[in-house]
Amino acid sequence: MSSKAFNPFVMAQAQFDKAADFLNLDEGTRELLRNPMREYHFNIPVRMDDGKVKVFRGFRVQHNDARGPGKGGIRFHPHETIDTVRALSMWMTWKCAVVDIPLGGSKGGVVCDPHNLSAREQEQICRGWVRQLARNIGPETDVPAPDVMTNAQHMLWMLDEYEAIYGKKMPGLITGKPVGLGGSLGRTEATGFGVIYTVREALKDMGIKPEDTTASVQGFGNVAQYAIRLYNQIGGKVVCASCWDQNDQTSYSFRRKTGVDPDALITITDRFGGIDKSKAAEMGYEILPGEAWLEQEVDILVPAAIENQITGENAGKMKKSVRIIAEGANGPTTPEADKVISERGIFLIPDFLANAGGVTCSYFEQVQSNMNYFWEKDEVLGKLDLKMTSAFQAVSELARKRKLYMRDAAYMISISRVAQACKDRGWV
Ligand code: GLU
Repeated sequence: MSSKAFNPFVMAQAQFDKAADFLNLDEGTRELLRNPMREYHFNIPVRMDDGKVKVFRGFRVQHNDARGPGKGGIRFHPHETIDTVRALSMWMTWKCAVVDIPLGGSKGGVVCDPHNLSAREQEQICRGWVRQLARNIGPETDVPAPDVMTNAQHMLWMLDEYEAIYGKKMPGLITGKPVGLGGSLGRTEATGFGVIYTVREALKDMGIKPEDTTASVQGFGNVAQYAIRLYNQIGGKVVCASCWDQNDQTSYSFRRKTGVDPDALITITDRFGGIDKSKAAEMGYEILPGEAWLEQEVDILVPAAIENQITGENAGKMKKSVRIIAEGANGPTTPEADKVISERGIFLIPDFLANAGGVTCSYFEQVQSNMNYFWEKDEVLGKLDLKMTSAFQAVSELARKRKLYMRDAAYMISISRVAQACKDRGWV
């Protein structure tokens, strides 16, 4: 599905440039914001289970910290590139700004495939990543978190290494920690739930009842699973989900007209979101090609996997019934597809707004950690809903007033906030 030439950083800069033009941003601020402030590239040597040493490539990119310490996840992915991490760090800056939390934007990555690594090898990668960066990250400088193929266990190994280096407990280093070890209740649900809080608001504004709608979701990882659960809870019906199949090295879509049941599907899903096809067929799912999720006769599409999925090539395959696209993933839509979406009048909830629930909950985790007092799950999710709802309303109001595409409106709000912080600090 992804074209080889796709470069997420070029795409992130093109999106930025468009919004910077709308804002009439001055040259200096533009130059500062269209590139990361700092980046680190390094090797992580690991002694593998077979006794041989393998060297993994690691990155951390700090795009902008004018509004607060850098914030953003660490991805483990075999095709990770520095330009992907650059783009993702930039999107983190806009994400934290759009929900108005006092954090900047960073992202990290390791070129590796956890499918083929033992737990011990993954632990060594985590510890090695922290050893390379211990002087450049920290509770007051740059705070990592989970992302694609990393989870609470990885975060705890990283924290443990960092605390061993500094000889003291510093839970503020990292978020997405296990509950009971400094983690926040609701963090696992936060990104997927956040996507649906924005979908719920969009439907409300359009005068559509959730129970009259259906959706198709790309992915069945953490974001997709919780998005499906909450959307079902508010009365909608997800009829299709998809996943990456590690054995076949391709993706598949799973369609069931009576609705996707995430609780049943999870029992036949591996730890990376791969669904067992024959068991799914027994449960009544049709197994379709990976791209079929996009071609369903539904009201709402939720790309919740990775970048570069709705493109100029396949955007024409979306059915006329589609009224909303909510981007659970980072960067799933290319600028060519944006053109198609906006011309067709589909209401887009852009990635750094729709999926900001994760980082917002990370911020709550830090607040709770600092107080050393942890909230009940309902309190966390209630506060998350408030933040997501007010961010959504601010963006959609601007889009309505100025007749803007939602992505451009979100960019304008975020960029103005970050540019103002840079100006107030005397940087530009
Ligand atoms: N990795 C998540 C994201 O892309 C969360 C980042 C965080 O919690 O810092 O938004």
